[in-house]
Amino acid sequence: MKLPTTAALVLSLGVSTAYATENAPITVTRVGSQPSSVGSEQNFTGSVFVDSRFAGTAPARIGGGIVTFASGAYTAWHTHPLGQTLIVTSGVGLVQKWDDAVQEIRPGDIVWIPPGVKHWHGASPTVGMSHIAFSEALDGKSVEWMEKVSKEQYGQ
Ligand code: MN
Repeated sequence: MKLPTTAALVLSLGVSTAYATENAPITVTRVGSQPSSVGSEQNFTGSVFVDSRFAGTAPARIGGGIVTFASGAYTAWHTHPLGQTLIVTSGVGLVQKWDDAVQEIRPGDIVWIPPGVKHWHGASPTVGMSHIAFSEALDGKSVEWMEKVSKEQYGQ
């Protein structure tokens, strides 16, 4: 008698195999294979581009991209259900938690925004900024957008 394979056994037991990914291929998404996406006017002020967008496969829930803000460009207020990590790669940027001081961020700085914390991030008024952004999705959602940051809040 042929013994059932692990996969067949798991299926026969009705256990999900959705997370059996040990044979999944490593993927390399080549630079230039995805067009830049433009930050929407509803969620951003000024000129913002997102490149190198990525998303893991389940059970991973990581996703993100490289976000480039022109000088004077910034996000609206928002939260991330499972938080967000930013690694600044160029320029001079700003980040602010609601009701807290604006902090300047520079290349090599790592910013951790805890789950549910209302905040914005963007470039300084005179110098642009790029950061890599990483966040995990909760129920498929990694950001909750809110109202736009006013010029007074941005400090202009
Ligand atoms: Mn954020």
